[in-house]
Amino acid sequence: MKFTKECPKCHSNDIIRIPGETQSGGMGNNIRAGVTVFSAVMVTKYLCCNCGFIEEWVDSPQDMAKAKKYYAR
Ligand SMILES: [Zn+2]
Repeated sequence: MKFTKECPKCHSNDIIRIPGETQSGGMGNNIRAGVTVFSAVMVTKYLCCNCGFIEEWVDSPQDMAKAKKYYAR
């Protein structure tokens, strides 16, 4: 979906990108990977406006590393 711009469920091309964001209190499109908002991992969502399917991606390599450091034991 991120690369093909096509929904894997209904094959629609009506895909929108919803960027990750951080708000105070840890709300928003992100994964918590620590105690502060600065350690939040941004999650970009891709929504199919035809069937409602959502795909989620962590776009930043730094954010992937943060999540791995926090969750991989
Ligand atoms: Zn779809």
